Amino acid sequence: MSDAPKKTYHPETRLVHAGTLRSQFNEMSEAIFLTQGYKYESAEDCELRFSGKIPGYVYSRYSNPIMDMFEKRMAALEGCEAARSTATGMAAVTTALMGLVKAGDHVVAAKALFGSCRWVIEDWLPRFGVPCTLVDGKDLDAWKKAVTKNTKAFFMETPTNPTLEVYDIQAVADIAHEAGAKLVVDNVFATPLFQSPLTLGADVVVYSATKHIDGQGRVLGGVILGSEKLITDNYQQVLRQTGPSLSPFNAWVLLKGLETLPVRVQRQTENATAVSNALAGHAKINSLIYPGRPDHPQAAIIKKQMTAGSTLCAFEIKGGKEGAFRFLNGLSLIGITNNLGDAKSLITHPMTTTHQRLTPEQRAELGIGDGLVRFSAGLEHADDLIEDLLTALDKV
Ligand SMILES: *Cc1c(COP(=O)(O)O)cnc(C)c1O
Repeated sequence: MSDAPKKTYHPETRLVHAGTLRSQFNEMSEAIFLTQGYKYESAEDCELRFSGKIPGYVYSRYSNPIMDMFEKRMAALEGCEAARSTATGMAAVTTALMGLVKAGDHVVAAKALFGSCRWVIEDWLPRFGVPCTLVDGKDLDAWKKAVTKNTKAFFMETPTNPTLEVYDIQAVADIAHEAGAKLVVDNVFATPLFQSPLTLGADVVVYSATKHIDGQGRVLGGVILGSEKLITDNYQQVLRQTGPSLSPFNAWVLLKGLETLPVRVQRQTENATAVSNALAGHAKINSLIYPGRPDHPQAAIIKKQMTAGSTLCAFEIKGGKEGAFRFLNGLSLIGITNNLGDAKSLITHPMTTTHQRLTPEQRAELGIGDGLVRFSAGLEHADDLIEDLLTALDKV
């Protein structure tokens, strides 16, 4: 039995109800289906299910009721036809790109990327004969100029990690489509609540569900979303045959995460706003960037394509790496880590963690200064966070 909530329901309502499947026991909360395989009524039934002529689960590498529920709820949230879950955000990104290209094709991507995404595009795809061109995502001419006759995919994340730049999804989607390419958007920083890339013209959206969707730092997961046709044509076989599958247990945790996503993300955004306002202009900080502030360099694009500013802000501590380390070591409540989107507030020093692999020149080009730190707001009281941050700044 399946719950099919009305299409007119708001995201909050869909996130509690959409996609729910119930067994013969009619449990209220979603059950976990830890099974590899499924039993068939007869050899004929088995043959038909294998051929896809009748619906039904076959093998949990590519179909399982709890993965199905998570995928249906994600698709309902994103407002699209189809979703496929993956083991991690990187499995989603890698599959989303590899499913669109073959040897001889070409990819264009914004150079400001999560470290692993940049490695997949810059180092991994070329090994299979798919070169890439990295561009400044803000520069629409650069996207246009990078196109070759073999360009099949565009890739960007916006807001970017860790500098929180924002790119115009609609304008870049138009350039991609004119070139006959598909645009893939990594929407982790905006969350599905604050930005809908598919409605802005993107063809594929990917998430690391590890971040806000789990939201409590427990499990890894990822998801790829798009139209039924695109998902079937480009990803169905890759996912089925190569097996980057989400574990059923993790799917269950993520499904529970979705129920509370809007409540958490709203509070985290309020906290990120309060922290940004408290720290902007502080004597120990060179600059602060937060997509929810009117002084963000791309404020006009944010107004056009986002409904709120995200749960993260970034700021540059004076005194470079030494200043940043003094600041990090002066924190007592906020944890030093490389993760984000957790209920616990977290802080990252990109130069020595997520972007360590880049050369100093590459980091400078991206605006990742030695003193830059990225703050991910959790669910604590804003006053406690601000007190911790101001106390640590005193130690710089
Ligand atoms: C974390 C992250 C990823 C990778 O997700 P994993 O679940 O850690 O594999 C990809 N893109 C962005 C923007 C991220 O923040």
